[in-house]
This record gives sequence, structure tokens and C-alpha cells, in this order.
Amino acid sequence: MKRIYLSSPTMHGEERAFIDEAFDTNWIAPLGPNVDAFEKEMVEYMGEGIHASALSAGTAAIHMALKCLEIKRGDIVFAPSLTFSATVNPVVYVNATPVFIDSEKDTWNMDPEALKKAFEKYPHPAAVLMVHLYGTPARIDEIRSICDEHGVPLVEDAAESLSSTYKGRQTGTFGDIGIISFNGNKIITSSGGGMMLSRNEDYTKKATFLSTQARDPARYYQHSNIGYNYRMSNVVAAIGRGQLKHLEEHKVLKKAIYRQYSEAFKDIPDLSMNPMNPDGDANNWLSCVLIDKQSRVTPDALMDTLDEKCNAETRPIWKPLHLQPVFEGCDYIKAGEEDVCAGIFEHGVCLPSDIKNTPEDMDMIIKTVRELFS
Ligand SMILES: *Cc1c(COP(=O)(O)O)cnc(C)c1O
Repeated sequence: MKRIYLSSPTMHGEERAFIDEAFDTNWIAPLGPNVDAFEKEMVEYMGEGIHASALSAGTAAIHMALKCLEIKRGDIVFAPSLTFSATVNPVVYVNATPVFIDSEKDTWNMDPEALKKAFEKYPHPAAVLMVHLYGTPARIDEIRSICDEHGVPLVEDAAESLSSTYKGRQTGTFGDIGIISFNGNKIITSSGGGMMLSRNEDYTKKATFLSTQARDPARYYQHSNIGYNYRMSNVVAAIGRGQLKHLEEHKVLKKAIYRQYSEAFKDIPDLSMNPMNPDGDANNWLSCVLIDKQSRVTPDALMDTLDEKCNAETRPIWKPLHLQPVFEGCDYIKAGEEDVCAGIFEHGVCLPSDIKNTPEDMDMIIKTVRELFS
């Protein structure tokens, strides 16, 4: 039986044409026409006034964002606990200290109430990191206005939400700096890669400068800054350019998967889908379910059953960072008594959300889930 994936690359053909062009012109380097064109095309997609720096990974883009904001040793950075560790690892790269913020049930993203409490305890963080988990936009306006009130810059990790919009505008364009990712399992992929986005061109210029070894403008090699080798390769950008042409089409297919699961499970009292933000239009990168605490079906049983009966790949919800051994000792702020993100982690599952799933694959997954809960 063929494997059904959580979210795997979907290639179309244009990618190979751009790669061939890179080979034919011998632009096999971490610079070149595809890198410039990919930045330009992404900026056009994102909307007016946005600038971009193409980098080797979304993680590198977060690192460069923190460098642009001059976050340093001793600084505090607020970040959601419910996210992939790559959101927060760069905070440690710059020797700053993360303080984790709980999620709200309505979007699974950073809870503005918990964020307010964090500001009461730590009035002067150096930045706030915001994530749009599984593609669902966070409460951007509330979070943005709390940051503005305190004069603290906002970094928007839109790695999972490329093509999701909030009040009609692309996610990734709301922060002082935004980042996107083209890793293998994201909605579009360049095999690996990312971009840093900003309305402030000084930031994206600085990111490009630092990510190309920070060489001063002199004939000889002179350096006044510590540089990084984080620039996107021209071959990688070729794949990204081909994929970008299909981003909207991928979004339509991801949304259809979410809709189909929602429809199929709506009469199962023990199951609910990951929530949507009514102010946004999510890309539904991954469709997830939350299983009622009282249910006799555990997330492990659901994952094992889909693996055994459908050969389908699933994944637990991101394990919250405040529960990770590597972040032991970091502070964690909740709005009230309940640990919301720990509950989502304990009771949630990411379902197969691959846009190459056939109608037969979807029917088999749905039937198997329905049987398990009947
Ligand atoms: C994938 C991901 C990243 C990291 O992006 P890479 O391109 O893999 O480095 C960062 N944050 C979140 C939320 C992600 O899902």
C-alpha cells in the first residue's frame, strides 16, 4: 500500500526549467538571477512596500531578524510556547533569553491576555515573536497594539502560514520583520530556504549583508561585523520560483482538505478541528484534530490506527517549548490557571494534509477515523 504523507513536496515542472537555466548559465552559487528574481516575485506576491532577503532557511531568517533588531545577551524575547523549536532557537543563538507565552483556544496562537501579563512581569523585552501555527493567523491586531503600546518590535514567524491572510493582507507583512520558510514540508518548498521580509529596507539590506559574510566595501577583504553564510543558492531559488507560481493552487487544495475533514467529522462529538481565525483566511497548511479529554480514543491510538490501516503519516502537535528539556528553567506565562497549549499538545493530532492525497486516500482516512470513534 502506498504511503500517504502528512505534507510532502509537490513539484510541477517549471522548477526544473529554472534549474536548467541556472545550469546552462553556470549560475551555481549563493547568488544569481534566480535569487534576485525570487525576491522580486515574492515581494510582488506579498504586496506593496515589502522588501525581501532570500536566505538558506527560515531559521536563518529569524536569526537575521534578531541581528537586525540588535537583540543581544541579557535581552528578553517573548515567544509562543506552542511552536516548532526553530522559532526560538535563534533567540539563544544571540544569547538572549526566551520567555514563553501560552496559547489561546480560539486560534491556538499566542494569547494576547497572557502577553499582557508577560509585560507586567517583564516590562522591557527586546522583541516579541509571533507565530501563525499550522497556517491559522494569530490575533495580529491585538498583539501588534500591545507591542506598540510598549514600543517593542514584533517579529512575525510566518513559516507555516505563507499565503494565509489577515484582514485581507498577507501574513509575514505585519511584523517589523517577518519570515517565511520553503522547507520540504511547507506549503511551497525550494528544498530548503527562507526569506526575511520587512517594510524597512534597511533591515533586508542588512540581512543580505550579514548573510553574505559581512564584507565591508573595500577592495581587500575587510570586516567590521561578524558575518554569516546564509544566502540562498541560485539553484534553490530556481525551485522556489517554479513553486511560487503554484502557491495559490496549493492553498486551494490545502483548504479543501481541511473542509473535507471538518465536514466528515462534524457529527463526532469527541473530535474538533483546529480553529480558524474569523478575521483571517488560513492556508490550512496542516489539518489537525483535538480529541475530547473524556474520549476513550487517545491521540496515540488515532495515529497508530491511521498508520496501520491506511499507511498514513500523522504527527503529534508541536510539543510546547516550556516542556522541552532544552528550555528547562525558562519562564512561562499563562493567562489564567489552565495550561492551554499543554492541553492542545496532549489531545491533538496533525492529520495527513498532503495535497497529492487522492479522493480515495481521503475517503479511506475519513472512514478509518469514523470507525475508530464510532
Ligand atoms: C519550519 C518552521 C521554521 C523554520 O524554517 P526552516 O526553513 O525549516 O528553517 C520556523 N518556524 C516555524 C513555526 C516553522 O514551522
